[in-house]
Amino acid sequence: MAQSNEIEEDKKQQGCIICDREKISENYCKYHEKAYENVMAAFHDWQEGYGELSFIEYLQKIIENPATGDWAREVAEDLLRKEEAKK
Ligand SMILES: [Zn+2]
Repeated sequence: MAQSNEIEEDKKQQGCIICDREKISENYCKYHEKAYENVMAAFHDWQEGYGELSFIEYLQKIIENPATGDWAREVAEDLLRKEEAKK
């Protein structure tokens, strides 16, 4: 009668979706979470400067930018995959 919750329990124990380190948030480890916060904060600044820049365009720009750090680029690639999956 009672159904097993084992599959959901397994999901919770997975690490960061990018690097598999221990997670501190829903998706990311402390390094990728910090990079995610920076990416999102910078997006708000970009929107103010560029107005109509979409989130996908922004992600593509930071991925292509050689000055983007590895953590931020990995987060941007992950977010871009998710955005494109929504289409
Ligand atoms: Zn990570």
